[in-house]
Order: sequence, then C-alpha cells, then structure tokens
Amino acid sequence: MRDPTAFLRQEYDELVRADLDWKLRVLGGPSTPWCSIDGKRVLMFCSNNYLGLSNHPKIKAAAISAIESHGAGSGSVRPIAGNMDIHMELERRLAAFKRADASLVYQTGFATNAGLIPQLAGDGDLIVSDELNHGSIIDGVRLSKAEKAVYRHSDVGDLERVLTGAEHHAPAYRRILVITDGVFSMDGDVAPLDRIAAAAAPHGAMVYVDDAHGEGVLGEGGRGIVSHFRLSREQVQVEMGTFSKAFGVVGGHISGSRDLVNFAYNKSRTWLLSGSHPPGVAAACLAAVDVLEHEPQHVERLWSLTRRFKKAMAGLGFDIGHSETPITPVIVGESARAKALSQRLFELGVFALPIVFPMVAKDKARIRTIMNAALSDADLETAIGAFDTAGRELKLL
Ligand code: PMP
Repeated sequence: MRDPTAFLRQEYDELVRADLDWKLRVLGGPSTPWCSIDGKRVLMFCSNNYLGLSNHPKIKAAAISAIESHGAGSGSVRPIAGNMDIHMELERRLAAFKRADASLVYQTGFATNAGLIPQLAGDGDLIVSDELNHGSIIDGVRLSKAEKAVYRHSDVGDLERVLTGAEHHAPAYRRILVITDGVFSMDGDVAPLDRIAAAAAPHGAMVYVDDAHGEGVLGEGGRGIVSHFRLSREQVQVEMGTFSKAFGVVGGHISGSRDLVNFAYNKSRTWLLSGSHPPGVAAACLAAVDVLEHEPQHVERLWSLTRRFKKAMAGLGFDIGHSETPITPVIVGESARAKALSQRLFELGVFALPIVFPMVAKDKARIRTIMNAALSDADLETAIGAFDTAGRELKLL
C-alpha cells in the first residue's frame, strides 16, 4: 500500500541534500553576550535581543512576581475569561510609550500580521506591499481577499506608480493599504516611511508599518520608526511591533487610534481565538516598557557599539553593505564562503549564523550580525579580532 506520509521524508531529504535544512543550535542558559551554544562558550552576535533586556533583573523579577500573584497561565482567550489586569495595564503603558491613543497586544508579531492585515483589507480592496516585506506580512496578505500589488524595495516612485494605476481601477477600490517593514532585517536598511506616507496620503491609502526591528533602536528613547521620522498617527495609521526583539520577551502589538484598536480586537481571529499571554509574559513585557522609559542608556550604548563595530569592520576591508541600523551584514559572496566564515568564527568563540540563498541573492551570502547593548568594550574587541583572523585565514580580506 502507498505510504501517504512518504513525502515527509522525501522533502526533508531534498532539503538536507541542498544543505538548506535548519540545524538547530542549543542555547544552554540565558541569551547573554557570553552564552553557551551547543555546550561551547561563545559571544552571541546574532540574537534580536538588541538591548540585552531578555536577562534584565527588573524584567525577570516582574515575571516571577506575576507568576506568584496571577499564576502560570491566563486560563482563556482574552475576550472570554483570559483578560487580566496585567494585560490591560500593559496596553495602557505601551500606548503612552508610543504616544498613541491606544495599543493592543497580540500573542506574537506573526499573529498580529496574520490576524490583522486580512481584516484591514478584503474583497474590493487593494494591498500594496514592499517586495522584501517579512514572511508574516506575506502570509497576512495571502489570507486577505484583497487584490495584491508589490512595489520595488523601498522605491517610492514605484509605489506611486502602483497607487496612480489603482486610481483607474473599475470598480474603484473601497480601501487601499500600503504595508512596509520599518527596518529590513536582511540588510538593516530603514524604509523611507516619511516619503511612503506622503505618497499614500493623496490616494487616501492607509499606511501600516511593521517596526519589529526598529523598536528599541530608532526614534526617541527607542520609540521606533514613527518617532524617528516624527510622523503623526494621521500619516501612519498602524504601527505594528513585537516584544520578541529589543523588548526581550515575546508578543506582538499595534498602536494607533482608539478606533483601530476597537476594530482590531473585535476582528483579528488570531487574537480572538488563541489563548492570551501567561501573566509572567505580560508582566515581563510591561517591565520592559518601563525599562525603555527609564533607562535610555541601553539604546545609547547599542548605537555607540554599532558605530564602532561598523567602522572597525569597514576598516578591516569587509563589505558591510548599506545598513543604517545595528543589523550589520558581512557580505562575502557565495554560500560556501559565508558558511565557512560562520564555522571559523564559532571556533574562535563568536556565534553568528550565515544567511544564504534563497534568503538572499546567490552572490550576496553573508553573516548577519546584530549588535547587543550588553556587550562590554572588551567583548566588542574580541568579536572584531575574530572577524579579522577568520577573514584573513579564509582569504576574504
Ligand atoms: N515582523 C518582522 C519584520 C520580523 O522580523 C518578525 C520576527 N522574525 C516578525 C514580524 C514576527 O515577530 P514575532 O517574533 O513576534 O512573531
């Protein structure tokens, strides 16, 4: 009899043969600058924990205390019996931090994009998306019944071309939604959100920005890309983000008008139909917002280390692309070279994974480094020294 599951092994084997399967590394302890990966003590150089908050004492203490006071789980989805005072307080504090009328917290950033985008635009609408947007946006767009158009990466002229063309569509679109990542995570470039918003306005289009990699990094005190460009809520109607990166915890969120939040929690299926954050998670997110508000030094440190690292790497002769953020790609060409560099760095005590085709172009394989504010000056020198040694040994310099 035919085995109905034979494809599982076949497809996995194909990935292994092409060396495209994920080989999971094991972190034996917290995500700190020096950590244990597969039992080896190494410098973490590729986590999204930009500010080192995943191990911040106040945030850990808040999680522990909420577990003591509210338990390990919330017991339900939020619209039924799982909406705790901590969830409400988190949204109030986040909205104040973001200087928005209201915020809504989802279980993850992925759940935010997958749950909200298909509700903001549906039958008779148009979604216009940057070609390099994150996979969770792509999936959110796929779940929508709206028509879809893609514009060239960060090319506002091309976006205008699509929006102007949309004016002639018959019947006229009910709504148009323009979506972009704030910071693009492969190259570390920042979307021209001011010009995107200016292009969208004359067409009455809504603007949705996924600021997963801009929060805690860009803008006043790490408030994100909307703050960075000093844009108003009338110009960018949906500011989306995640607690899983600079905030150091887990969870997605949106900020904007009260109307947006009322609409979103009544319509987003991921929010309505999936259990809410355990108290420890919600309290840790709340404490992370508090830390960002009261300890601006982490964001300052992140930028100072970033500038030093980029200068040193460019000085050594590495191609570090055109990043404007703490994501610094070290572009080395063919996949095999990036993999060899990552392997040698690991032996030298630096953990940074290669990003290869199909995630980036075949000749643009790279090591993607992400700076972490918790690194000491000596740690930074160690990392630069390891890149220097490995780069020379592998004749990349
Ligand atoms: N958007 C972007 C741009 C991201 O990089 C990520 C995380 N990889 C997400 C959304 C998903 O966020 P989360 O980890 O909270 O699901």
